[in-house]
Amino acid sequence: MNNIGKKFISMVVGLAVLAAILILVYRAEYATEEAHTKDMFAMDTYFVLKAYGPEAETALELCEAKVLELEAALSVTKADSDVSKYNNRESRMVSWDTYTLVEKALQLCEETDGALDITLYPVQQAWGFTTDSKRVPSHEELKELLKKVDYKGLIPSAPGRCPIIGMGEQQIDLGAVAKGYTGDCLLDILREQGVTSAMLDLGGNVQVLGSKPDGSPWKVAVRNPLDTSTAIGVLEISDKAVITSGSYERYFEENGKRYWHILDPKTGYPADKGLVSVTVVGESGVRCDGLSTALFVMGKKNAVEFWRSAGDFEMLLVTEGGELYITEGLQENFVCSEGWNAEVINR
Ligand code: ADP
Ligand code: MG
Repeated sequence: MNNIGKKFISMVVGLAVLAAILILVYRAEYATEEAHTKDMFAMDTYFVLKAYGPEAETALELCEAKVLELEAALSVTKADSDVSKYNNRESRMVSWDTYTLVEKALQLCEETDGALDITLYPVQQAWGFTTDSKRVPSHEELKELLKKVDYKGLIPSAPGRCPIIGMGEQQIDLGAVAKGYTGDCLLDILREQGVTSAMLDLGGNVQVLGSKPDGSPWKVAVRNPLDTSTAIGVLEISDKAVITSGSYERYFEENGKRYWHILDPKTGYPADKGLVSVTVVGESGVRCDGLSTALFVMGKKNAVEFWRSAGDFEMLLVTEGGELYITEGLQENFVCSEGWNAEVINR
C-alpha cells in the first residue's frame, strides 16, 4: 500500500474513533437528560410520570399498563375489581397485588392501633365519598355501621397459587394506601428497566427515583392546605416518597359545616384532631401513604409520639390554626415559603 493509502486508512480510523467518543460523550452528557413524560387520569386523579434516559420511554409504557392493571384490581367503585367482588361476596380470590397490598395495609392498621382501618368501607359509603351522593349520616346509622368495621377480622392467606382474603363480614376500601403501593410498583418497573432518575406525581403523592439527571436533589413543593394555590415550602429529596393527606382534598359542606373524606374509625365522623394536613417523607410509598392518613386521624400529639417510636420516616404537620411543624430530620431538606415558619419537633 502506498503512503496515500495508509494515510487515508489512518484518517478513516481516526474519524471513526472520534465519532465513537462523541457518541459516548453525548449519551453520557445529554441523552440521559432527555425527559419522557406520561400523563394519565387514573384512580380518580391525575398522574404525571416523568423519567429520564434512553430506557425511559419503554419503561413508562410498562408503568402505564401497570397503573391500569392495579386500578382494575383495587378500585372500590369498579364493579369487577377484586375489591368490589370481595365486598359484594362474589369472590374471595384476589390477585397477588391485591393480596400483597392488603397484607401490608393490615400491618399498618395494627401498628397505628386502628387509626388506619381498611374495613371502613360501609361507613365511607354512608357518607357518599366514593359515589357522588354526599350526605351526613345519622348518629344511629354510623353506630350501626361501625359494628362492621374491624380490620382484625380480615384474614389474608395464600394457600398455593390462589391468594384469598377475608373470613368475616368486613368490606374493604384500599383508598388510603393504593396510590402509595402503585408508586412502589412503578419504581420497581423503572429500576428493572434501567432508569435511574424519575419523578412520579400520583395525584399529589410524589415518589422520586434517584436524583435529577444533573445529580442535584429533586425539589418537591408541599401544598398549603389553607390556600391550595400556594406552597408552604419546598423539600429537596432523592429516592423518597412525599405523601400528603389533608382535609382540603375531598370534602363537602352542609349547614355551614365542612365534612372531609378522612374518617376516624373510632367515631365514624371525619377525623377532627386539629390537623389540616400531614405530609410523610420516607422510603416506602405504601407506608408513607398509610401513615399520612393514620397520623391525620391521630392528631399532633399522638402523631409525634408515633414518629418518635417508629424512627423510619419524617413528617410535616399543618394545624387548623396555620402552624407548621417539621420533624428534625427535615431541617436540612426543607425551605419554607415566605410567610411560613416551621417549628422543629425533636426526637
Ligand atoms: P387521598 O387518597 O385523598 O390522597 P388518603 O391517602 O389520606 O388521601 O386516603 C383517603 C382515603 O382513604 C379516603 O378517600 C377513604 O377511601 C380512605 N380512608 C379514609 N379514612 C380512612 C381511615 N381512617 N382508614 C383507612 N382508610 C381511610
Ligand atoms: Mg394515605
